[in-house]
Amino acid sequence: MHETAFIWSDGFLNYSFPGDHPFKSYREKKVRELLDVTGLSNFVTLIEPDPPTEDQVLSVHDREYVNLVKTLSIKGEGLLDSGDTPAFKGIFEASLLRVSGTITAVRLIAEGKFVHAFNVGGGLHHAKKNSASGFCVFNDVAIGVKKAEKKFVRVAIVDLDGHHADGTQQLLYSDPRSLKVSLHMYHRGFFPGTGDVDESGEGEGENLTVNVPLPPGTGDEAYLLAFDEIVMPRLRAYSPQLIFVVLGGDSHYSDPLVELKLSTHGYMQVLKKIHSFAESRSGGRLILLGGGGYNYDATARIWTLGLAEILGIDNDSIRSLHDPFPTTTIPFTYNKVLQVIERLKELPLPPSPSPVS
Ligand SMILES: [Zn+2]
Ligand SMILES: [Zn+2]
Repeated sequence: MHETAFIWSDGFLNYSFPGDHPFKSYREKKVRELLDVTGLSNFVTLIEPDPPTEDQVLSVHDREYVNLVKTLSIKGEGLLDSGDTPAFKGIFEASLLRVSGTITAVRLIAEGKFVHAFNVGGGLHHAKKNSASGFCVFNDVAIGVKKAEKKFVRVAIVDLDGHHADGTQQLLYSDPRSLKVSLHMYHRGFFPGTGDVDESGEGEGENLTVNVPLPPGTGDEAYLLAFDEIVMPRLRAYSPQLIFVVLGGDSHYSDPLVELKLSTHGYMQVLKKIHSFAESRSGGRLILLGGGGYNYDATARIWTLGLAEILGIDNDSIRSLHDPFPTTTIPFTYNKVLQVIERLKELPLPPSPSPVS
């Protein structure tokens, strides 16, 4: 058993966009139900987020932007970005609570109370310094990393959401104390349009941003190859003391917005590798965050399976959440992934810690 905190508040359900907007908190509601159905709730410790404060978001966001969110939240209308992220009544408080969930996860790990924590309300990786983006108001990932850096010298983020982690990248691009890895679909016209191989960090953060831009149809087979060839060597070189995983469910083959075509098997193989790396090299310290995911059922299954993985629990009711088969990759697409891997291998590895530390 791996001591795991599951951060939960019914208030998470308030972060849900109205009308035909695809970002809905059905996923969170469903995962909470699955905890009881599978019996996982007997093995986790449910923890409420610490009371949210406005100051928590000012570590990465501008005061003017925070004020704008507050104003539009009271009005209950208007846009927080150029079109995808509309305000609704109470969006300010709903967003703060999700940030607080991630901060609470970091606090529990930093204090040594747990080795693993999961905030399904987190992973809002598109939010920028001065604006919302892609359904994300405040970037809890970057805020969580900043908080973690008060305790740890080297922190890593592995972002498995199907979209590029552009907000997290912008906010931490020159940060020397965090390795930022994002695997995502990259294709002409596909949101957000960034995340190519050559975006690799700047200044003191040079070689600490790693983008793995993948073609539509990647599937488990080629995704795992890219993960083994690119991500694992960089984690080993950097040797983080704490790892964040953004477990967005939109890389799944059923997702209506992304076409990376992973199955639950691919997701869990990747997570298993990160988990076992964390156990051997990062003192076990691992924080899972949610993220996107627009097939709500698949996303809830991925998150529940992810929780079972870090808890070290495997039984029939957990296995029943898996897809029937892993996904394969056609040769045409496999070759495209090989080309991405070759380009990435030309870049330097992140700096290793000095032997004294
Ligand atoms: Zn563990
Ligand atoms: Zn996404």
